[in-house]
Amino acid sequence: MRCSLEAIPRPRWEHLSGTSLPPGLSPEGSMIFVRDPLSIFGRDRLHMAEVRWFYRDATEWNAIIERLKLTACPHCKRVGTLIRHGLLFGFDEQSPRRKTVRARRVFCSNRNARPGCGRTISVWFAEKIRRLSLTTRGLWNFLQLAVTGTFVAAMRGFDCSLSDRTLQRVWRRFELAQSRIRTALMSRCPPPDQAPENSSRSAAAQVLAHLRDAFPGADSPITAFQQTTKTFFM
Ligand SMILES: [Zn+2]
Repeated sequence: MRCSLEAIPRPRWEHLSGTSLPPGLSPEGSMIFVRDPLSIFGRDRLHMAEVRWFYRDATEWNAIIERLKLTACPHCKRVGTLIRHGLLFGFDEQSPRRKTVRARRVFCSNRNARPGCGRTISVWFAEKIRRLSLTTRGLWNFLQLAVTGTFVAAMRGFDCSLSDRTLQRVWRRFELAQSRIRTALMSRCPPPDQAPENSSRSAAAQVLAHLRDAFPGADSPITAFQQTTKTFFM
C-alpha cells in the first residue's frame, strides 16, 4: 500500500507567544517566528525520541544558518543567542580512511554577557548514522541483505571495513529500534500487507518494507526518515 501525500505531517509555525498559525501567515505587528520542532510529531509523542535537527546538503545548512538568529534554542527557548560552533567529524563505509563531517554544532552563547544557556546543539548530516561508521545508504544496503539471506551472507556481502562483531551490534541496534520506527511510520501510512511475522527477520523485513512505502521515491529511505521525523533512525 502506498502513502498519499496527505499523510505527510506538515510542520507548523508558531508565534513566540505560542499562538498557532497556518504556514505562510503572520500576525499583525510581529516579525519574529520560530519553527516549533515539537510540532513535527506532536508534543504528546515526544517521549518516543528526542527531536533532533538534520540537514541534507549545503543549501539546507545555509538556510538553517540564515535563520539562526530567529530560531529559539531548543534547551532554554531564548531567541537570538544561537551561533555556529564547529564541526563533528567521523569515518563511514564510503570514506573509511578520511574523516568527513557528521554534524555541525550550534552554541547557545552565554559568553560576553550574552543571555544564552551555554549548551550546544548538533545539527546532523541526515545521511549519517550516529555512533556508527556508516552512512544511511550503507545501513540500508546492509539491512536489506540481512533480511533477504542469511546473516553470515549479509556480513560477507556487505562491502565495508566494519568487523562482524560491529555488524552484529548494528543489527541488534536495529532490532531494538524497530518498535519506535514502526510507530513513527504509522503516522505516515499503514504497514504493507505481508505474511505474518514468524521470526525476528520477517519482522525486520516488514519494517523495511514499511519504510520503503512511507517514503516512496526516496533514494535513501533512512535519510528521509531521519530528516522528516526529526529523530535518529537508530
Ligand atoms: Zn539555550
